[in-house]
Amino acid sequence: MKKDDIITLPNAHLRQKSAKVHVVTDDTRQLVADMTSASLDWEDSRPHEISAALAAVQIDRHDRVVIIRSDFEDKSTREFTPLVNPEIVKGEGQKITDYEGCLSVDGVYGKVPRWEKVRVRALDLDGNEIRFKAEGFLARVIQHEVDHTNGLLFVDHIRGQRDGFYTLNAEGELEPLDYDEYIADNHALWDGIDDQD
Ligand code: ZN
Repeated sequence: MKKDDIITLPNAHLRQKSAKVHVVTDDTRQLVADMTSASLDWEDSRPHEISAALAAVQIDRHDRVVIIRSDFEDKSTREFTPLVNPEIVKGEGQKITDYEGCLSVDGVYGKVPRWEKVRVRALDLDGNEIRFKAEGFLARVIQHEVDHTNGLLFVDHIRGQRDGFYTLNAEGELEPLDYDEYIADNHALWDGIDDQD
């Protein structure tokens, strides 16, 4: 799949919950292959960004499947770890606020509070249960992806935070976005949520 198969806001499908995968099959494995190729095609089109992870909902498939980059530091390592039905069993430590972006939220970054450490339960692509602990950026990425399976986006956590939103400039550096001008009435970000209120 290609980067154009990745859906972005205001596509309302991003705010739908995904369904649990009851049995891991070849369909699941094909889904993971499609997500991986779409992520890498997106990354190849971006000079300053890495594709850290993707959830199936982002290619418009509402299955609880996510892929997480195996090495966030090395763009030449183009491998991902798939997690089926991922759950945060427990958040631990403090909530840490740090930068976050999303392939489905074009041009907007945010500072989002997340648990410092998480305990995770999921299935692997053979259908076996796996449990592990994660911390730091990996913990952040997993919380972001589990949110996707529940129809939540990072911007939903920081709506109203006037100093919470950023964009990438041409040099690849994050700079603050004026809340009133770019965020407050940005229909691409908030359409769909307001309808549910
Ligand atoms: Zn995302």
